[in-house]
Amino acid sequence: MDAKVMADGLSPAEACRRQVEVAAAYMDLEPWLVERLLVTNKEVTVHVPVKMDDGGLRIFTAYRVQHNDVRGPYKGGIRYHPEADLEEVRALAMLMTWKSAVVNIPFGGAKGGVQCNPKEMSARELEAMTRRFTWEISPVIGPERDIPAPDVYTNPQVMAWIMDTYSILKGQTVPGVVTGKPLELGGSLGRFEATGKGVFITTRAAAAHLGIPVRGMRVAIQGCGNVGGVAARFFSRAGCKVIALSDSKAAVYNPQGLDVEHVLACKDQYACVMGPKVKAEEITNAELLELECEVLAPCALGGVITTANAAKIKARIIAEGANGPTTPAADQMLHQAGVFMLPDILANAGGVTVSYFEWVQNLQNLLWSEEEIGQRLEGILQKAFAEVLAIAQDKKVDMRTAALTLGVSRVARALKLRGIYP
Ligand code: GLU
Repeated sequence: MDAKVMADGLSPAEACRRQVEVAAAYMDLEPWLVERLLVTNKEVTVHVPVKMDDGGLRIFTAYRVQHNDVRGPYKGGIRYHPEADLEEVRALAMLMTWKSAVVNIPFGGAKGGVQCNPKEMSARELEAMTRRFTWEISPVIGPERDIPAPDVYTNPQVMAWIMDTYSILKGQTVPGVVTGKPLELGGSLGRFEATGKGVFITTRAAAAHLGIPVRGMRVAIQGCGNVGGVAARFFSRAGCKVIALSDSKAAVYNPQGLDVEHVLACKDQYACVMGPKVKAEEITNAELLELECEVLAPCALGGVITTANAAKIKARIIAEGANGPTTPAADQMLHQAGVFMLPDILANAGGVTVSYFEWVQNLQNLLWSEEEIGQRLEGILQKAFAEVLAIAQDKKVDMRTAALTLGVSRVARALKLRGIYP
């Protein structure tokens, strides 16, 4: 069940390990460090029983994988998806470790996944499943240990249930156990839009580097949730032409630029990007990836850019809002074709960065203004972009290898300083 094979014949975890090995070759790392960093520290699998609305019992398989915590507590989201499996969660946990290190925040990496279809579950069923899952993993999470956050198909309400369940178990309110909470419960201003905003900030930096004017820049976005939908707003407000947007059912395309607010309102109202008054042609998600544009932002699921479609991609910049949307083989093809890749661990790092701000505020009972958060986020992402670009230019490697070089070397240095116990 856990050996999900993704496109191009590699499981997500194998693809991640492959990327690290490529980067390690540029770092002169001692073999024991690489060996240690390629494995996860702890993997918890639980079977979560839930009384369903029809009176029956269903058991959901769920995971929390903790990859590495040498630089700070484990950090990473929890996704609810029918195809969540151990190999995928392992890969995502590892990506979180490098991501936190690329933006240089004091966290390690973890990820959770519950194999379920939240679209077919009632709010009560989701709440029961979330609370029991939280109870099951409560020994391994905590504000100083492992701090979950939203990911695919989880949201602030789910974080509120996790926070409440954990707090009841501890006998006191513990806001710092999760990030991405509702504002009323210690969530941070700017957290909801942070990942999408980060996609915009890093893409803008890439466009400036390549000499592409932001005004009129054509952007195609796959996904229109917390990442894609938010990014679309930022691109459109900056004067870009968002020419395509999609959800799991359909994609809409208008070469003159979509009315982003209109498409998002339609998604809200009809649960689909294509609606009565949307001025656009309906295309498929596969066609969206191959559109003529300057920026392609895959902001939905992993494994969508493969050797089967990489040669057909016409974008000059790919901004990976999703985690792991490009397979290693496709990545190489794109690099050779001169496409500028903004890898996931940089492009979507805005989310975990503002999660860090939220956690800091929770631990110290502080409330930062939206302006302060916006400035700190910009500063961190611009610095990370500049550092990754400098490595790419210096070592003559693609941006993913450069980002991994930066992230993995920071973790490796910390590991070397701490050493192996005993
Ligand atoms: N799920 C998000 C990610 O993949 C956010 C993680 C977090 O804030 O901890 O980066």
